[in-house]
Amino acid sequence: MVRAIVATEDKRAQVIDKEIRPIKANEALLDMEVCGVCHTDLHVKNQDFGDVTGRTLGHEGIGIVKEVGADVTSLKVGDRASVAWFFEGCGHCEYCTTGRETFCRQVKNAGYTADGGMADQCIVTADYAVKVPDGLSSEAASSITCAGVTCYKAIKVANCKPGDWILISGLGGLGNLALQYAKNVFNLKVIAVDINDGQLEFAKKYGADLTINPLHENVGERVQAEVGGAQAAVITAVAKSAFNQAVDSLKAGGRAVAVGLPSEAMDLSIPRLVLDGIEVIGSLVGTRQDLVEAFQFGAEGKVVPQCELRRPEEINDIFDEMNAGEIRGRMVLDFRNKD
Ligand code: NAD
Ligand code: ZN
Ligand code: ZN
Repeated sequence: MVRAIVATEDKRAQVIDKEIRPIKANEALLDMEVCGVCHTDLHVKNQDFGDVTGRTLGHEGIGIVKEVGADVTSLKVGDRASVAWFFEGCGHCEYCTTGRETFCRQVKNAGYTADGGMADQCIVTADYAVKVPDGLSSEAASSITCAGVTCYKAIKVANCKPGDWILISGLGGLGNLALQYAKNVFNLKVIAVDINDGQLEFAKKYGADLTINPLHENVGERVQAEVGGAQAAVITAVAKSAFNQAVDSLKAGGRAVAVGLPSEAMDLSIPRLVLDGIEVIGSLVGTRQDLVEAFQFGAEGKVVPQCELRRPEEINDIFDEMNAGEIRGRMVLDFRNKD
């Protein structure tokens, strides 16, 4: 029996004791060290994507390999490895074989359709668990396993060149890392947009070139007036208005990359799309190779996740704080202390 945080019928999370089955030949058993709390975990426990009562939550997990199955060659005992939202693909479909494996139709997602990393132990499909490089702490690696790689990939999808302006909407767990990848890896100029002034202060500290609070000013007008429109936008905010504002802020030929998951539809002016050649595209986490790259930039110190360690028993408090917009950076559950 191990301690695990599971989704409950009444849309809460609960710490329970759970059986861990024996591993199969292609799997590895991880002793979990840490697991970050992503806003997606909040969506899952709220049943925004359906009822998964009993499922172990968590997809920003980092653990140490305790045991590997007979066929495993990619991991060995003692390695540190990730438990990511992209938990497993089929390996042979058109998405899996063309560098778009996160869109595999047979995909399994940790903390949603497979038991995730918020537990003392977690079973992973070994070929899909990415190794953590030396020189990157487990806390930092946990944030990169979802928040970091998602933003790193979204900025790749944004298709900018150095010096371009990019708007980042929502400066929470994802957005503050989007800001750091944009500035320190892609050499972009960043407009940070959040309804919370605390997040904007935080963003300024990390080098945001322009900050805007949509509660106090019109985002599109300010961006058009000040920089002539942004080349791209990455929207992590969980609100329809943020998606509309992002499109309003683009210059002709600009691209809006949708990352946040509010359960709503956005407004899209067809003349705006056509006459200004605007592109709108979704981006879903990152591939295993994206994660290797995103980890490496963390190990080199170009991206420094802001983490606070919390006890697993605090999970519902953390969800409440996340709902209230009180979290700066990422809350990371510490499973190293087993008492
Ligand atoms: P978070 O709660 O840490 O941060 C959200 C931020 O958005 C906060 O700073 C909040 O103040 C801000 N915000 C809220 N309303 C806003 C508005 N109207 N305009 C501007 N900012 C606003 O959440 P997170 O962990 O960063 O996750 C963000 C979203 O991204 C969630 O919906 C999550 O499910 C989703 N997500 C998507 C992917 C993907 O692959 N596409 C991966 C991970 C998370
Ligand atoms: Zn996530
Ligand atoms: Zn596939």
